[in-house]
Parts: sequence; structure tokens; C-alpha cells
Amino acid sequence: MAKKHTARCACGAVTFEFDTDPTFVAMCHCLDCKKASGGEAAVWFAVPEDDFTVTGGETRAFHYTADSGNGLDRNVCPNCAARLFTSHLEGFPRTVFVQLGSLDDPAGIAPQLEMFTKRRLPWVRPLDLPQFEAMPN
Ligand SMILES: [Zn+2]
Ligand SMILES: [Zn+2]
Repeated sequence: MAKKHTARCACGAVTFEFDTDPTFVAMCHCLDCKKASGGEAAVWFAVPEDDFTVTGGETRAFHYTADSGNGLDRNVCPNCAARLFTSHLEGFPRTVFVQLGSLDDPAGIAPQLEMFTKRRLPWVRPLDLPQFEAMPN
């Protein structure tokens, strides 16, 4: 039986799922989220690695070192290049950070804070959520 939340890349080659209802859901305006997503921001959330299962296909990991100096693996579909999730983020062991847009039902999970608001572009209005200039403490 599928887990509660199912997700897939743009071409459908990669699928994954998890049961957790995430409690850390961020709309992040940092430069990395801009560059990696191609948009103004990215919405992503934390899922325990133990609950995270890739059910189809294989991902390709791109290792990246963030401004903080912490390394991470950004995982994409090698076929359609959709950005799916981040793993092995230094300082956050056993946690996977999933891109909201990969969900089959993205309306089921909503952001709970905005971060790196210092990088938010002037034409974007703040959401009615806690605001953090950089990382939340
Ligand atoms: Zn794909
Ligand atoms: Zn970011």
C-alpha cells in the first residue's frame, strides 16, 4: 500500500513516498533555491530519512556546498532533470528535504514560515507567516 504522501518527477520515471505530515515547511528565498529551482523561491519540507522511500526509478545526486559552508546532495531525475529532494545536508542527519512541487497532491502541505527574506525580491508580497531574514534559529 502506498504511503500517505506520494510524489514524482516531471516525466514520472522517479517516484517516492512518505507518511510524515511535515512540521517544518519553509518557503525559502535564498540564492540557492533561486538558482536550483529557476524561480524566485522554493517551498520544501523536512521528512525523516527512515520514512522516505524511493519507489521507482533512480535519482542522480549533485553535490553542492551552500553559502553556509555545509555540503548537501541535491537529487534530480536524470531523465527530466526535475529537482526532487535534498539529502545529506550537513548538520541535519537522517533528514530529507522534499520539494513541494514534486508531490502528487501539493495542496496537502502548506508553508509554515518564510526564510531568507533578505533575498526576497521586491515584487513578492510576504505571506501571513513567521518571517526569518536568514535561517530560523
Ligand atoms: Zn523525470
Ligand atoms: Zn533556500
